[in-house]
Amino acid sequence: MWSILTKHILKHKVHCGFVTALLNGQKSRNLPVRCPLLWRRWQHTIKAVQEPPMCGPSAEIQHVEAMDTERFIRIFWKDGSQSLYPFVWLRDNCQCPRCFLQSAKARKFAIEDLNVNTGVKNVILSNTRQISVLWPDEHISEFEADWLKKRCFSKESRAEMQEELFLPECQYWGSDLQIPVMSYEKVLSSDESALKWITTLKKVGIVLLDGAPVAQGELITLGKRIGFMRLTFYGYTWQVQDKKDANNVAYTSEKLSLHTDYPALQYPPGVQFLHCLKQAEVGGESEVVDGFHVCNQLKEHDPEAFHILSSVLVDFTDTGVDYCDFALQSKHSIIELDDNGQVLRINFNNATRDSVFDTPIKQVQPFYAALKKLVSLMNEPTNVFCYRMKPGHIVTFDNWRILHGRRSYQSDEHVSRHLEGSYLDWDVVLSRMRSLAQSLRAPK
Ligand SMILES: [Zn+2]
Repeated sequence: MWSILTKHILKHKVHCGFVTALLNGQKSRNLPVRCPLLWRRWQHTIKAVQEPPMCGPSAEIQHVEAMDTERFIRIFWKDGSQSLYPFVWLRDNCQCPRCFLQSAKARKFAIEDLNVNTGVKNVILSNTRQISVLWPDEHISEFEADWLKKRCFSKESRAEMQEELFLPECQYWGSDLQIPVMSYEKVLSSDESALKWITTLKKVGIVLLDGAPVAQGELITLGKRIGFMRLTFYGYTWQVQDKKDANNVAYTSEKLSLHTDYPALQYPPGVQFLHCLKQAEVGGESEVVDGFHVCNQLKEHDPEAFHILSSVLVDFTDTGVDYCDFALQSKHSIIELDDNGQVLRINFNNATRDSVFDTPIKQVQPFYAALKKLVSLMNEPTNVFCYRMKPGHIVTFDNWRILHGRRSYQSDEHVSRHLEGSYLDWDVVLSRMRSLAQSLRAPK
């Protein structure tokens, strides 16, 4: 969007020259900055360079007016809808070079310089796709129609923008999951496939990549496709296999109950990759559960248990030596909610739930009863999807949402099963999603 905007602005050389002069405070003979006449001349200049935008979605403005009492600017769109924008917000978000550093796409304008009660001296429709605001101190701000439309303060418009930025939509599933499978090679080579992979990972919570080279270290290539991986005390990647004197319960051949990884970190990893390098001959099947779906079931069937699990803080601990020595402590509710009361993250790993429990004694028994209900729901056969990884499979899943486990397997003195794992943060994964979406939208 910004590149389009820049190009568009650059095309308006006459007008930009004028604005630059105004911003620099140059009172040239041709441009007497504070003369009211100029405002009219300026309107004329803008109209003279009117052009349609070069590409992209195009909102068109019918009419604009300042509502001085409410301190809003009202835009009447050509499609019949209207939008309101507070004066203070418009002044704060002036896009001119003095107020906004285009190269960093960041605000230069300081709150110290913001008059929160600012009025507006004049507002005009420069053309159907741009408005210009003249402030009481003669500063001029211009706003593009598409830019404004995306930032409309109506509930619907805000929800639409949040949908685009964070992709909050979830498709819930149970044992009937049709696990999404994509080609590993395609995800690496095609931007469309990579975007599809990430959006599916966010919506469904799990995607299986097929056809990866069966070689330790391959996950680094996949991590680079996104950006970078999350380093933890188990390293950038870690080897899930039966180990002597295991420093983690995953590093045995025993059954692993459903869990999320690493709640002992105060900020648990958002996304997990598991690459199958060798599969056991007997046992070792993987199990996954849609934790958000199960939490919704608990909320419906037992609101009190849901309330306990979303409010009582549980201590987690992880101590040992791997990448370096570690002694982690953290506190999380098992069901973590966002500001809207929606489940944001499941923090549940029974192995690292600490015996230290910083909660009043009367909460202890009810907490266990609530946790037991959640775990029973998780283990309902209708909620568990079971699959068997083969060498060359990489399962990628949302570690904030999906609980995962594995069935026990037969182990001997040789390595009979080997998965390599790694983590990424959702910040990095969603950043790649937005960048891919933007570059695929851009004109070729
Ligand atoms: Zn400005």
